[in-house]
Amino acid sequence: MSPAPPLVVVDARVDGRPTNVRCRDGVIDAMGPEVVVAAGDEVVDARGMALVTGLVNAHTHAAMTLLRSFGDDLHLMPWLEERVWPAEARLTADDVYWATRLAALEMIRGGTVHFVDMYWHAEAVGRAAADAGLRTTASQVLIDGGPGNPGADTGALLATAEASLEELGRLGPLVVASLGPHAVYTVSPRSLEALGELADRTGAPVHIHLSETEGENTASVAATGARPTALLERHGLLGPRTVVAHGCWLDDDELALLAERGTTVATNPVSNMKLAAGTFPWTRARAAGTSVAIGTDGTASNNALDLLGDLKVLALVHKGGSGDPTVLPAEEAWATALAASSPLLGGDRLTPGAPADLLLIDTERPEMVPGPLLENLVYAANGSVVDTTVVAGRVLMEGRTVAGEAEVIAEVRSRAERIRGGA
Ligand SMILES: [Zn+2]
Repeated sequence: MSPAPPLVVVDARVDGRPTNVRCRDGVIDAMGPEVVVAAGDEVVDARGMALVTGLVNAHTHAAMTLLRSFGDDLHLMPWLEERVWPAEARLTADDVYWATRLAALEMIRGGTVHFVDMYWHAEAVGRAAADAGLRTTASQVLIDGGPGNPGADTGALLATAEASLEELGRLGPLVVASLGPHAVYTVSPRSLEALGELADRTGAPVHIHLSETEGENTASVAATGARPTALLERHGLLGPRTVVAHGCWLDDDELALLAERGTTVATNPVSNMKLAAGTFPWTRARAAGTSVAIGTDGTASNNALDLLGDLKVLALVHKGGSGDPTVLPAEEAWATALAASSPLLGGDRLTPGAPADLLLIDTERPEMVPGPLLENLVYAANGSVVDTTVVAGRVLMEGRTVAGEAEVIAEVRSRAERIRGGA
């Protein structure tokens, strides 16, 4: 993509006040009523819409759009073994590219500006994100058969990891190359240790599934004598550049360790409920000071990529589960969708010098009237209230139109039958 021209968003509302925003070189250059349009600027007329920071999807497998609503209503292991893994074995890099473009389209339409991904053919994931204009922290799935496999080939796994870091590292500023060991039950301790050293040496972020199910904890203790979090700690994989997905079965000591290490937990309330994997211990995590962000997980287990929709579920799960409606108030839910507490992904970004990753929210939509913006976004809205999505100062959607939508949808339709085996 060529560099974006300077962009000025005119007549947006921030905290109810009229605001103009100038974006330049991918960051917010200036904000306030005094910002004016200059010759050569691209202009977005916000017409009084609310300006907010874009959302972060902290755990997904974007290309699983090809497996959307495929193998629903099954237990986790039969779902993986009988449906997902055989279909994934048929995927080519081109399939992953187009399926990720479809996911990107859905995420842009729902206000997501950055997604943390782990999948096969990760270079195609990164390329699709960059072509769509979205940010991604992308990783190749790494597996070697796990602790039960005496033939686990750490050398081969490491070669794959290093090659994918290099390929992803060439894709430009929107793509952060990351390491994606799948989980402690699919990667051997020796390979985890090698990846810990690689992460240390390269500074690459690490993205791994952790304690998604109770069975994962039990099996880890049986195979290695240690719970999954202890294994990650032992092999140097916990730190401020690590994202662990799920964490439904983390105990208090583990939550405290993750807090101490600055590791981000990506909770996936919709996927966890759909697969009945468990419920993330929100209240205990808050008490421990653990950083928590929200992910959708892949569309085979969600089945959408609508973070605003999932945000409502997040709040309701923990209110309902605790019997306390004051748990997880709207402000906390919104901060979670921005990954605000995550050292790797977060921060309050609506300020000069911050990345120009912005949304315009259509506050004339019936579900946004009347009432405060934040509470409406969490409890009343879904992604369709997003009118305009800007990433790195480039307009990806305006008036709910994204360039090239029809081509992306047609490409995925044409590939779906072969991947799904006619199902
Ligand atoms: Zn996952």
